[in-house]
Amino acid sequence: MSAKRKTGGSKSKPKAKPKRKHYRRIATEEAWSIPEQMDAQRELVANAQEYDPDLFLWKFQTDPNGPIHNRLLDLFDERLRLMDEYDVTMHLLALTSTGVQMMDPDKGTAVAAIGNDRLAEAIRKRPDRFAGLATVAPQDPARAVKEIDRAITKLKLNGVMINSHTNGEYLSDRKYWPILEAAAGLNVPIYIHPRSPIPLMAKAYREDHLEHAIWGYQAETGLHGLRIITSGVLDEIPNLQLVLGHMGEGIPYWLYRLDFMHGKVKVDMGRRKLKLQPSEYFKRNFYITTSGMNWDPTLKYCIEVLGADRIMWAIDYPYQDHPDAVDFMDAAAISEKHKQMIYHENAERVFKIKKS
Ligand code: MN
Repeated sequence: MSAKRKTGGSKSKPKAKPKRKHYRRIATEEAWSIPEQMDAQRELVANAQEYDPDLFLWKFQTDPNGPIHNRLLDLFDERLRLMDEYDVTMHLLALTSTGVQMMDPDKGTAVAAIGNDRLAEAIRKRPDRFAGLATVAPQDPARAVKEIDRAITKLKLNGVMINSHTNGEYLSDRKYWPILEAAAGLNVPIYIHPRSPIPLMAKAYREDHLEHAIWGYQAETGLHGLRIITSGVLDEIPNLQLVLGHMGEGIPYWLYRLDFMHGKVKVDMGRRKLKLQPSEYFKRNFYITTSGMNWDPTLKYCIEVLGADRIMWAIDYPYQDHPDAVDFMDAAAISEKHKQMIYHENAERVFKIKKS
């Protein structure tokens, strides 16, 4: 239909949609990109010598005609329109996975700084709609520490995002502890976002197509969270706060067995002595978000096991859609008090987002 027809009278009025109850909805794992990140990833894709599970996906993401490319680059057009349509107050933005972690250290450090500057600029333009997590290049820990300091104290970003492993290494490795100390020192959380498992591990998933978001992301990122717990670093930096998406990347479901197997096995298997049980660290040092897990039973279970004050709402746009996440949380069979906490109160506290 091209011609607009003028309609009048009550007969032709469209039926009003049932009005959605208003909440202050802060979505906490929302992806965006900048041309510099796209260019650098495009180059990595072009030069790849062998199959890499992340570059496999980047090939689609960097395609200007693909379904995701433009939605990642957009902040003020379709994104804001969708947020308005579904009454989503804010997106907590972060450069899409794998951030700058596949780039060489110089390039990664440079692109991270550009991304953080541009994120701060977007937030200055619309502080009512956007907040953001800083990108850093852990492959250069010293410069990553400097960038965290700049991004939090100068740019006023709300935390840090790290996309799981960096060149097959995890934040539990001592060389990355300065990054953890920097975040803890500034009292901002590190959101550990998924990426594909390291190539060695991905091999076991690949043949049956499990290496990406269906299972591999969770296996990789859950492992990352657990390595931080059993490495003992949380005894050294007890106030570090970490965030995991996807209802905790499987860890909440496994807490009983983690405690049992960590503590109750009587033979000396060389496990590091910890001050607390694994589940106690998880409840003390981790928050989880609902990104991409729009499922009532898991939500209720996590509230029971972790407490509603440890759970934040997320969409995972543009990989998942506004209506699914909003309809899920609106309809969730949980108390109104918990809904307010999960929709916005926890995010305001954890990420220091101004209450409206
Ligand atoms: Mn995500």
